[in-house]
Amino acid sequence: MAMRQFKAESKKLLDLMINSIYTNKEIFLRELISNASDACDKRYFKSLTDASIDIKKEDLQIHLSVDKDSRTLSLSDNGIGMTKDELEKNLGTIAKSGSQDFKAENQNENIDIIGQFGVGFYSAFMVASKVTVVSRAQGSNEAWQWESKGVEGYTLTPADKETVGTDITLVIKEDAENEDYSHFLEEYTLSDLVKKYSDYIRYPITMYREKSRQKPKPEDAGDDYKPEYETYTELETLNSMVPIWKRDKKDVKPEEYNEFYKNKFMDYTDPLRVITSRTEGTATYTALLFIPGQTPYDYYTKEYEKGLALYASGVMIMEKCGDLLPDYFSFVKGVVDSEDLSLNISRETLQKDSQLKLIRNSLEKKIKNELHAMQVNDRDKYETFWKAFGRQIKFGIYGDYGMHKDLLADLLMFYSAKEQKLITLDEYLEKMPEDQKCIYFAAGDEVDRLGKLPNAQLVLSKGYDLLLCSEDVDEFCLQIMHDYKEKEFKNINSGDLGLETEEEKKAAEEATTENKELFEAIKKALNGKVKDVKVNPTLQDHPVSLSSEGGLSMEMEKVLRKMPANGEGMESTKILELNPNHAVFGALKAAFAVNDTAKIDKYAELLYDQALLIEGLPLEDPVAYAQLVCELMK
Ligand code: ADP
Ligand code: MG
Repeated sequence: MAMRQFKAESKKLLDLMINSIYTNKEIFLRELISNASDACDKRYFKSLTDASIDIKKEDLQIHLSVDKDSRTLSLSDNGIGMTKDELEKNLGTIAKSGSQDFKAENQNENIDIIGQFGVGFYSAFMVASKVTVVSRAQGSNEAWQWESKGVEGYTLTPADKETVGTDITLVIKEDAENEDYSHFLEEYTLSDLVKKYSDYIRYPITMYREKSRQKPKPEDAGDDYKPEYETYTELETLNSMVPIWKRDKKDVKPEEYNEFYKNKFMDYTDPLRVITSRTEGTATYTALLFIPGQTPYDYYTKEYEKGLALYASGVMIMEKCGDLLPDYFSFVKGVVDSEDLSLNISRETLQKDSQLKLIRNSLEKKIKNELHAMQVNDRDKYETFWKAFGRQIKFGIYGDYGMHKDLLADLLMFYSAKEQKLITLDEYLEKMPEDQKCIYFAAGDEVDRLGKLPNAQLVLSKGYDLLLCSEDVDEFCLQIMHDYKEKEFKNINSGDLGLETEEEKKAAEEATTENKELFEAIKKALNGKVKDVKVNPTLQDHPVSLSSEGGLSMEMEKVLRKMPANGEGMESTKILELNPNHAVFGALKAAFAVNDTAKIDKYAELLYDQALLIEGLPLEDPVAYAQLVCELMK
């Protein structure tokens, strides 16, 4: 019997294939099962137009069996089979896909066949030292055997086979140092792999499984009877066949979706929202997505891996395809199934796949719309969502130089000082008095403290609302947005808020000119810590306050300081503002009148430190501050 050589280019390809296209050896089973499923599809499809083919859809199936002694794993299908020519053509040439030809020949028909690349079969050599294929084609009365040990070539010999279909037998490789091949001979491994990759193949995938049961208790058993066990085998269907996402939404109970979510994504709380989507046209896919009900414990760490499970016609290609989700929706879990993707796709080629990009864009819009709908119609759930993942949305606005702000802005929620609850930006705008020009916000760690800041009370006293932003990302997010529907965001500590009356303004200007020399002295005493000292007529009962000038606010300075190696030199430009109506201002003036420089120096330092404390900023020298206070008490 002559050894037939693989076509030259096939040899190289086979080598490449076995060693690199698939990094993951276990997928060989998925590939062989998909081929068997395609073969069943083809036979069924032919039977529709050829009355001589007497097969019903229910009779088509795929059967697995293992024999540990001979280290063999066999797959049998009663699909269309292969003639001698087809064995030669399809298995003798790598990258020759019979399925592709079949599709081309039957172009107008709606057939949904998995294979189209022509390399999947060879993945068997990743785990097998020898592969034997015995096949009998539909309409043929002879069977042929194809056999190969890999790169050297293959043999083709006549064989005996009573029924139409294909039997593939793999001799599983011996275990190597770092490679455990033997587990592919375990029933539970095979059952797990079928569940993982091939659960939604439309034909039953069966296997006899060894089980154990208690023997019936004999009638005459005495008191000292100990239960006895026996092993038996039972034919089991390993796959569940119809994927939940392929079922009509109205036929699926909410609990079924929830159960699916919890099992598949290992969560113990129900999802907040289930999103189903089926599209045709530029991107043909079915998606079943979930918004989780709580933050995964590792969500805000590097360990968390975003992604959706990706299926091609019911066969899993990838457990977590990150390219399907933008980072700002990385919390979404789910499944995407597309007929337009080929099975033999690797991570590298996927990234370039234009189909995938279309799906991603379409999903992005869908997710955005669903979240917005939830915000409008299901506020309690949305707030739960927001507490769990709002931070990620804010990062999404801030990231990529604000490229996604238009998409994400109306998902935002902030705590309202006036209403004491979370509100959206649209809600803020709706309640804005006519004379209000900006959207005011205060940034800092604690919501409670923010509302008490001098400028916060000023804004509120005008009847305006104020967003209390207590997350470190908030201000960065608002700054990159700049405005919402043309209303500018304004930090209440950004200096000129434009909230004084004309009278107050005039009085302040006068007071500033009047006390010019005093302010110079204070500025000098503070030795570069503030850029300017001025009067602020709106401080009410606070003696002093700090504001900042330019793009970097004091709160941002605080955030940046916390970042490793980033805080250096990142300082806000501060202005010390004094309340001209406060007793302390009088004390300053008095000291200045008698030229008591030592006192002015101390007061300046004290007031500056107090202002820092009010803003929640760290004191440069807490010990010196404490000593100053004590000195005053003496
Ligand atoms: P693909 O499935 O991408 O076409 P494969 O390398 O997986 O490529 O398979 C090559 C070809 O061999 C298939 O297209 C099909 O024509 C044929 N083939 C493989 N397995 C079977 C099978 N079990 N029954 C019938 N034909 C098969
Ligand atoms: Mg295939």
